[in-house]
Amino acid sequence: MVILFLNMLSGACLGSFACCMRSRLKQRRSLQGRSVCESCGHVLGPADLIPVLSYLCSHGRCRYCGCRISPETLVFEGIGALAGLLFTVSRGW
Ligand SMILES: [Zn+2]
Repeated sequence: MVILFLNMLSGACLGSFACCMRSRLKQRRSLQGRSVCESCGHVLGPADLIPVLSYLCSHGRCRYCGCRISPETLVFEGIGALAGLLFTVSRGW
């Protein structure tokens, strides 16, 4: 059960990273640096970076400016978590 959780969390983190890189590439921004709110530019804290949970707890809005966060973020993180789940099940762990 712990392995399942860790694999799902790892998958969600990779999904979040992929979403972030996709967004930065689309906007021709640097791939380096910390994550920021795309609306107000506030640097996101550790609590804002927990995949899926932070989105759900903030109701899909930035904690600092209240601007809506793209649902794509949740979709990418969910797909990553699902990939982690499928990986774990396929290995029989
Ligand atoms: Zn913001």
